[in-house]
Parts: sequence; C-alpha cells; structure tokens
Amino acid sequence: MKIQLLGTGGYHPSDVRQTASFLLPEAGIALDAGTGIYRLPAAMQTEDLHLFLSHPHWDHIIGLTYLYVPLLTGQIRSVTLYGNAHTFAAISTHLFAEPTFSHMPDFQFVLLEDLSESKVELNGVQVSWQPLPSHPGGSTAYLLEDGRSRFAYVTDTFVDGSYHELIQEVDLLIHECYFSDELSEWAEKTGHSYLSQVASLARDCRVKQLLLTHIDPRENEESPWDLTAAREIFPLVDFARDQTLIQLPGN
Ligand SMILES: [Zn+2]
Ligand SMILES: [Zn+2]
Repeated sequence: MKIQLLGTGGYHPSDVRQTASFLLPEAGIALDAGTGIYRLPAAMQTEDLHLFLSHPHWDHIIGLTYLYVPLLTGQIRSVTLYGNAHTFAAISTHLFAEPTFSHMPDFQFVLLEDLSESKVELNGVQVSWQPLPSHPGGSTAYLLEDGRSRFAYVTDTFVDGSYHELIQEVDLLIHECYFSDELSEWAEKTGHSYLSQVASLARDCRVKQLLLTHIDPRENEESPWDLTAAREIFPLVDFARDQTLIQLPGN
C-alpha cells in the first residue's frame, strides 16, 4: 500500500503544510479534501477517484472546488464522495452555493449510513469507518486494509477512548495532533489532540508507526516540537510531512 501525503496541516495552510488530504495513488482512494488536494491530479494513477470525507469543516472540504477543472477536462474521469448526511448537506448548502461557487462538479454521492457493516471494498482495499464524537459536529475515523497492511486515519478528535479497537495494531496510524503538551488544556475544549496523549494512544493500541498530522498552522515549521519526550512513550513517532510517499509494509 502506498500513501501520498498531500496535506498535513490543520485549520489553514502554512508555508510548509497544506490542509488535510491523503491519497492511495494506485487504488484511487483519497481521504479528505483540504487545500492539499490541488496536488492530487498529478499524483493519481487511476482515472476514477473515491474520496472519503471525515467531516465538513472547511479545512477538510474546501478542495472539492479544486476538482471542478480536472473533472471538466477529463483529467479525472469520475469522483465518488463518501461521507455522512451531515457532511453532504454542508457541501451542497454552503460550499457549492451562490454566489461563492455555483457549479457543483458532477460528483457521485455515497452516504456512509447506507453502507451495511460500515465498510466497502474498492480496488483491493477495504475501507471501514467509525464516527468520532469528540469534535464539534463530529468527525469520522477510517481504516484501510489491502490484505498486507493496515492504515488508520484519525483526525479532528480528542483522544477519548472511543476508537481504540478500530486502530488496534495497525501498521501506520496517521493521527491528528493539533497541540503540543504546552497547550494541552485547549485540546478537549476544541475537540483536538495533544502530543503525549497521541503518543500514549499509539503505545496502548500497539500500532507499528505513528505520524502526526493536522498540526497547528501557527507552528510554521516541518518539525515544530521536540519529540524526545513523546518518543519515550512511543519510539516510532514523527511529523507527517507534505509530499511524502509512504510505502507499507516496510518504509
Ligand atoms: Zn480540521
Ligand atoms: Zn474540524
């Protein structure tokens, strides 16, 4: 399984990070449509795109407007969106609306609520999901498995103990970490996570590797915090970086 990191920042772009978007180029599966998705057409290796959305905050959906031209010109043949009813309602009511962006591209919509057992199989990859309750309006965690490796994407949540089972022993956990430990008091209030809490989660769930994403964009650096203390909790932790290509297993 290959995973291209298109955007690893939270809230708004910084000099080093676009907002949330990840792509499995060989399978044509993407996660979230933040500003980083402008990089997607060049990285895709399929004609059709299956795009799973965590929730409808702007930093996760604004890039849907960037898919208008690639669809119009045929650079991408089709885009199927997967999300919950709350997310789809926000996209059609607030994102593609007069006068900000009147032309909704020809997306196909698949409601997560309509898929039985909360999973779907696409191009040899099984995608399953779970609602995350600890973020304003909620979010959705995803698990992707191709028979050889398992990868979980968890963003916009406080570490609340509700999704331990989903991410148990994955080869790679890409988890949000908006705050350093210095600002940990803000995490629960805002529905986000902080460093030592995410490292402890990775240890407790016995994941193989942890990459931190959805970093506070005021931290305008590739490596904003010293990870020494976090690595005492969980050694294989690092910052997710835009434009990195991950190969699982191995890497
Ligand atoms: Zn966000
Ligand atoms: Zn959010």
